[in-house]
Amino acid sequence: MAVNSQTLIYFMLVSVAGCGISAWAISLPPELSDKLHSDADAIKAASTDYGHIISVNPAAVLFPSSVDDIKTLISFSFRSNYTPYTVAAKGNAHSVWGQAMAASGVVVDMLSLNKNANGSRIVICGDEGSGFYADVGGEQLWIDLLNATLKHGLSPVSWTDYLYTTVGGTLSNAGISGQTHRRGPEISNVEELDVVTGKGELLTCSPQQNPDLFYGVLGGLGQFGVIARARIVLEPAQKRVRWLRILYNDFAAFTKEQENLIALTGKNAPNYLEGQLLMDPNTNLDFFPPADRPKIISLIKQYGIIYLIEVAKYYDGSNNTVDEELKVVLKNAVSFIPGCIFMADVTYLDFLNRVYPDELALRKQGLWDVPHPWLNLFVPKSRIIDFNNGVFKDILLKNNFTTSLVLFNPMFRDKWDLRMSAVIPDEDVFYAAGFLDSSRFDNWEVYDKKNREILQFCASNGIKVKQYLGHHGSKQEWIDHFGSKWNTFQQRKFQFDPKLLLSPGQKIFN
Ligand code: FAD
Repeated sequence: MAVNSQTLIYFMLVSVAGCGISAWAISLPPELSDKLHSDADAIKAASTDYGHIISVNPAAVLFPSSVDDIKTLISFSFRSNYTPYTVAAKGNAHSVWGQAMAASGVVVDMLSLNKNANGSRIVICGDEGSGFYADVGGEQLWIDLLNATLKHGLSPVSWTDYLYTTVGGTLSNAGISGQTHRRGPEISNVEELDVVTGKGELLTCSPQQNPDLFYGVLGGLGQFGVIARARIVLEPAQKRVRWLRILYNDFAAFTKEQENLIALTGKNAPNYLEGQLLMDPNTNLDFFPPADRPKIISLIKQYGIIYLIEVAKYYDGSNNTVDEELKVVLKNAVSFIPGCIFMADVTYLDFLNRVYPDELALRKQGLWDVPHPWLNLFVPKSRIIDFNNGVFKDILLKNNFTTSLVLFNPMFRDKWDLRMSAVIPDEDVFYAAGFLDSSRFDNWEVYDKKNREILQFCASNGIKVKQYLGHHGSKQEWIDHFGSKWNTFQQRKFQFDPKLLLSPGQKIFN
């Protein structure tokens, strides 16, 4: 149901503590009346996310058919002398703490830009001499970008583990996966952006043009503008992937060998490296040959935690030096549990899209749309032994939090551009630690309490972690999070979104 174009005024009732009911109104641009919806279905879809923890209703949802619609929406609010409304771009709503929501504001359903676009919002350009790139709408899913580029024998270079998120949504955070150690996060592989700022202006930005906006928006949590287009670096795509999983029972060996592996350069370097903890004997062991699964289960039971290095090497699928290259790689992985090295060979597409079959299986069991009280941290390398002892062994294992999917792998600080808004620890090497729990609707707080205990443990022991995809309870916590970047972040906010309209669900300025 579209907003009534006669009135275009929302009267919203709010309960003011101790004062009963009061009312205020927002007015919305009349020219968008047929694209602004406030029916129950639209409001419900915009008030939920993958986390299923937070739910706040917007006043309306915009289903834009062009970037101009987004400009009109934001500039109307910016120019309003009466009551400006907040605006949240919603990509695929795969945030877990309401980051793409706008209480009593307007949510922009970015995916709507793609409808009727007939593929025109992914344009592949360039040549071998100057390099290839794709000009991509901010609303595009990475899986669609991958499928489009593969048709040209090309591919983006840096990824997230899961591809059903939007380009705008991940670039607002960083976009990390097993390629980050080598290629940097997704934000390090962007050449140019078109952004609708909080003043409703559409600006092109790059390191040369409007650099403050460019660096602000990348990792900027949606605070400075809506990404309408991103120019993403491409390279020739490989066809197949040799994919290894190697098991350890010793944390020091596991991390030392991860660090040795990411330090490799040239053709012998792995294209991808991640780490994982196996703590649950009932964990999904589909990757491993059926005959080896009982052995892995008994190792988990024996040691409590088995650490797993996941390494991948891309190759062209035909004449192969890949096995020779893998031999060199594996000279750096020698301390694993004897016999516990396993290999699969899959297509490049299946490798990058490897989480999707899990999504389908979980959906089938009704276990996808459940609460996800996640915690993602960057941990400085100098403290990982303390982190293992205090967090993995004490908080998780002793308290039986063994069903979480826990990821743990290193990356290099110098692959990140420090001018961008994303925040990382102050050490040359740091680890990404992901605690990716799924829970029932009636017990997510148990996992949240565990996550707060982890943060508390780090704070009390001086482990200077930074949250990734995080949420903070107060402005002071955000200031602490940004540290030396806070002043620049705040200045950019006042420059590009002076009325504090954008991405209120991050709860930084609102
Ligand atoms: P949304 O949740 O819709 O939005 C996120 C934030 O970005 C909001 O503040 C929103 O207002 C803002 N935003 C959205 N679109 C735009 C835009 N066009 N312009 C400006 N701001 C915008 N992350 C990783 O880095 N690596 C991973 O491996 C990884 N794996 C994941 C696996 C799963 C199953 C899930 C659910 C998430 C994973 N994530 C991972 C996290 C994910 O990258 C982020 O949550 C990302 O923000 C999701 O994109 P989205 O399109 O759903 O964004």
